Amino acid sequence: MIKKLIGRVFSGKMFGGRGKSAAQVIPFKEHGVAREQISPCALSVTDTLQAKGFAAFVVGGAVRDLLLKREPKDFDVATSATPEEVRGLFRRSRIIGRRFQIVHVMCGRETVEVSTFRAGHEVSDKGDDSASGNERGKTDEQGRILRDNVFGNQQQDATRRDLSINALFYDPSTQQVFDYHGGVADLKKKRLRMIGDPVQRYREDPVRMLRAVRFAAALDFEIDPATRKPIRELADLLQNVPPARLFDEMLKLLLSGHAVETVKRLRKDGLHHGLLPLLDVILEQPLGERFVMLALKNTDSRIRGEKGVSPAFLFATLLWHEVLAAWKSIEKGGIPAIPALYKAMDQVMLAQAEMLAIPRRFGGDMKEIWAMQPRFEQRSGRRPYRLLELPRFRAGYDFLLLRCESGELDAEIGEWWTQFQDANETTREQMLKADSGPAKKRRRRRKPKLPADAADAPEV
Ligand code: ATP
Ligand code: MG
Repeated sequence: MIKKLIGRVFSGKMFGGRGKSAAQVIPFKEHGVAREQISPCALSVTDTLQAKGFAAFVVGGAVRDLLLKREPKDFDVATSATPEEVRGLFRRSRIIGRRFQIVHVMCGRETVEVSTFRAGHEVSDKGDDSASGNERGKTDEQGRILRDNVFGNQQQDATRRDLSINALFYDPSTQQVFDYHGGVADLKKKRLRMIGDPVQRYREDPVRMLRAVRFAAALDFEIDPATRKPIRELADLLQNVPPARLFDEMLKLLLSGHAVETVKRLRKDGLHHGLLPLLDVILEQPLGERFVMLALKNTDSRIRGEKGVSPAFLFATLLWHEVLAAWKSIEKGGIPAIPALYKAMDQVMLAQAEMLAIPRRFGGDMKEIWAMQPRFEQRSGRRPYRLLELPRFRAGYDFLLLRCESGELDAEIGEWWTQFQDANETTREQMLKADSGPAKKRRRRRKPKLPADAADAPEV
């Protein structure tokens, strides 16, 4: 133990994972970020922790965004206090832990995420044997970190972060920024640079590749060549990431307000293959690409306009052309249209679940949107009225409009529904199409063949 300690002091690792120099401290007059720009909740967290003698800083995305004169999405705090110590200081707080334990502190409607300084997985220093095996996080055979919860000091905490611009600490009481990895210079150069050896950092956590591309798109930054180059070669490592985590990351990416740009860049960097089976297939067919890009553009403008978006709607659009393809091929096998659609929906949901676990709560809504689509083509009798009454009609209709806009369907059908919704009764009656007799007969014959889960299947 003592020997190890002495070894560490001499190898210069005592105070910092990779033995890099100490932080550059940047005063207020140089960066201009004032204490008042920090949210009241984050301020109360750092003030309370500091008053108890702990180190506490605002860290990560909020510091980056403030330095870029953007409004931070949320505030994260890094501290020397352990999760239990943090928990003990704030009445409205709870420890949550997925990959590692963090504390959520709540004030009113705001939640601040407080994490204890952690030492990363010590890597890449020549002759680095200072971090003993049991101090390291556990990794799988590809080098992916499975457990990553070793506490450390501030410098180590900076070093375990992903990009230099995400490793900046702001002390609200002194209004100083602590920069261990040249993050401020990179912000000025609009450059994304992975801390440490990019290959090793991607192996530890392949999601960092997606993050790099997401930030590049959202901030309109360039990825430094050394950080960018390995991405194409290592893209397959994303296959080892647990689907739930990948889903979270996809959601962040798609709801960033810059989805179109991010997806373009993902394709450029070869990251879409395998990541989203849906993107693989779809982006390679002209109609599918148009449809997905329109859907993403739509989502981006809703997010930028601070309107709500539904993840279920978005995922339904991303998978639609897969559903269409499966539907067609199942129908070719002699199965009637509606049961074939249900089969196709299940097949597509199952196929992507292995890669990207779409939570159940979204699955139901997605299927509802898809199942409504053939019903828009039924424009006679009482059917359009019944469709209008469905609680999710609006989502189904918006989806229909995208299909028209992408060229998959004739624009006339979308226009018909737009008009029908707002028309008075007389106009509606005039708009209805003549009923096609044989369709009814077909329905009666086919009904018994509906699969069990299609009990409340759409009418045909
Ligand atoms: P956003 O604006 O999307 O919230 P963010 O940078 O705050 O951006 P978070 O996911 O909230 O991103 O993470 C907070 C901080 O934690 C990051 O700034 C970064 O320092 C660190 N971090 C997050 N994910 C990773 C990762 N996979 N590897 C290393 N560090 C990470
Ligand atoms: Mg954040």
